[in-house]
Amino acid sequence: MELLKKKIGILGAARSGTAAANKIKELGGEPFLSECKSENEIANSVQLLKKFNCEFGGHTKRLLQSDIIIVSPGVPLDIPILLEAKARKIELLNEIELGYLLKNPSSKIIAVTGSNGKSTTVSLIHHILHEAGFNSVLAGNIGTAFTSYPIEDQSIDFIVLELSSFQLELIEKFNPDVAVLLNIRPDHLNRYPNMITYAKTKFRLFKNQTQKDLAILNSDDLYINKLKNNIKSQIRYFSLTNEENISFQNNSIQYSKENISLENSKLKGPHNLANLMASILAVSQYKIDYKIIEHSLNTFQPLPHRMEFVDIIDDVTFINDSKATNTDAVKYALQSFKEPVRLIIGGAGKGEDYSILNPHIKKHVKKLYIIGEDREKMKKTFQKFADLELFLDFGKAIKTSFTEAKIDDVVILSPACASFDMFKNFEERGNRFKEIVGELS
Ligand code: ADP
Repeated sequence: MELLKKKIGILGAARSGTAAANKIKELGGEPFLSECKSENEIANSVQLLKKFNCEFGGHTKRLLQSDIIIVSPGVPLDIPILLEAKARKIELLNEIELGYLLKNPSSKIIAVTGSNGKSTTVSLIHHILHEAGFNSVLAGNIGTAFTSYPIEDQSIDFIVLELSSFQLELIEKFNPDVAVLLNIRPDHLNRYPNMITYAKTKFRLFKNQTQKDLAILNSDDLYINKLKNNIKSQIRYFSLTNEENISFQNNSIQYSKENISLENSKLKGPHNLANLMASILAVSQYKIDYKIIEHSLNTFQPLPHRMEFVDIIDDVTFINDSKATNTDAVKYALQSFKEPVRLIIGGAGKGEDYSILNPHIKKHVKKLYIIGEDREKMKKTFQKFADLELFLDFGKAIKTSFTEAKIDDVVILSPACASFDMFKNFEERGNRFKEIVGELS
């Protein structure tokens, strides 16, 4: 393959960078890996990486000898080495584009993006395909790199990809057979100058689609409605408010004259209805029996850290929604309960205006227990709308919420923020929450 004859540099030796390097080597290419962390900082993986040509502790001019640089998704495109690479007209790609160029043409791609709901929706789609007997793999932002699978083989029927906006920044030819855009809500405003730039990055998902491809869109979304005229593929819509190609009523979804019962579905809340409808539309052209779809939706196990039920202690319910790292996810967490909520919120902010939450806090929240770096900003925003208290200690916030809770109150950890100020990641934050709740009982 022509691509593999080129000099390929890889910037970033984390999960996707390492997978890309392995795949290139496996297929006969000679990658060069460049990692900004020193050998000491990544001591656990350094031996494995040394089977490649590589450099650690920074990016040198050696990387600029590449014809192509595969850039890891977390790396901003304006760092000096990449500006220099652009000036030298070196092609910049990402691991998703590489996977697309290397995959067997017979494997279909279903790609999902959006501010919220991506992981839940790709997992649902993958589950339906698996139950229908297809060989499907789940890759991308959800955790396993696209190129870590044997994607050049014919045996894979579907590659279901979760794509973040960062992963959409450096795609060129990538063209999913089915492209799902769930929503565009304020998020990552520390990376993008404004909402419209963020929204346009999400729309890159459709840039190579044509009439033979399918786009699945949320017709309730302001930014999707603003930009959808640029899409050239066939479009199917879902909505929580309008009658579209798909709709819901009385705990069931109606699509194409079929009634799909959600009686045993463990996914709660209106946001998950949107995810369920999007998933049904995403597989709609693959002739899957409706009974199989219904069975899949009702056997799907919700992912941890997304509105995850933890325990009921002395009639107080605890919910772990640690993955709620923006205000929109928190809004849906609050809307999912009729009972009064004690909300544990806060962390490392991403430049969001928290006042979007004011009406929801006023309506649902008994008291806010505010933690993390953005606590003063949150206090200023919310103080007129709910009783609140600031905490430096996560455990103390949880214990106080329990001490103060009345029968039937719901304590939710739904931070509206990233976790990096106090934890390694959202999983560690959620697991710590569950441990502390465990100690309460
Ligand atoms: P993502 O992968 O996009 O971060 P997840 O499925 O992991 O999405 O969910 C992240 C957070 O967003 C959780 O708090 C979850 O309850 C909430 N959420 C899930 N789906 C939606 C949706 N369609 N709209 C708004 N919030 C959602």
